[in-house]
Amino acid sequence: MNEKSRQEVLKVEMESLSRNEELARVMAAVFLARLDPTVEEIDDIKTAVSEAVTNAVIHGYQNGDGIIYMEIRIRGKEAEIEIRDQGVGIPDIKKAMEPMYTTDTTGQRSGMGFSFMEAFMDELQVESQPGMGTKILMKKKIR
Ligand code: ATP
Ligand code: MG
Repeated sequence: MNEKSRQEVLKVEMESLSRNEELARVMAAVFLARLDPTVEEIDDIKTAVSEAVTNAVIHGYQNGDGIIYMEIRIRGKEAEIEIRDQGVGIPDIKKAMEPMYTTDTTGQRSGMGFSFMEAFMDELQVESQPGMGTKILMKKKIR
């Protein structure tokens, strides 16, 4: 098979625990190493995965029980990452994606997660429905 048509996929289900944020980040980095990314590219991807998984844990499942689904696809030289939860969902996606918007009341969060995902990846799509959960789809071309 040539580079262009090459497709590979990794599917992971993990419990909603903050320590799984590092696991997800490292799995993504190791799997995508086969695209031969630069250190900067892999750091960008790790940051984006980390933000999405953290959101699923703290916002989606509100630090309670739940399953986080991560699917990573390699399509030629592009990495496609999907992170999904079946948590509370987002009532207003557009607003949630604004820089510095957060529903956190503890003062610990800065509301920059989506902005980082957007900045570090080439593409970011958010699908969500209150009570149903949230799906984040991110894409990045490895140059
Ligand atoms: P930071 O990421 O800087 O720590 P934050 O998590 O509040 O702060 P974002 O990651 O940009 O900021 O998310 C913005 C808001 O979108 C959150 O405060 C939350 O209300 C909502 N949100 C994000 N992800 C989810 C999710 N998976 N489920 C439910 N709500 C979410
Ligand atoms: Mg966040």
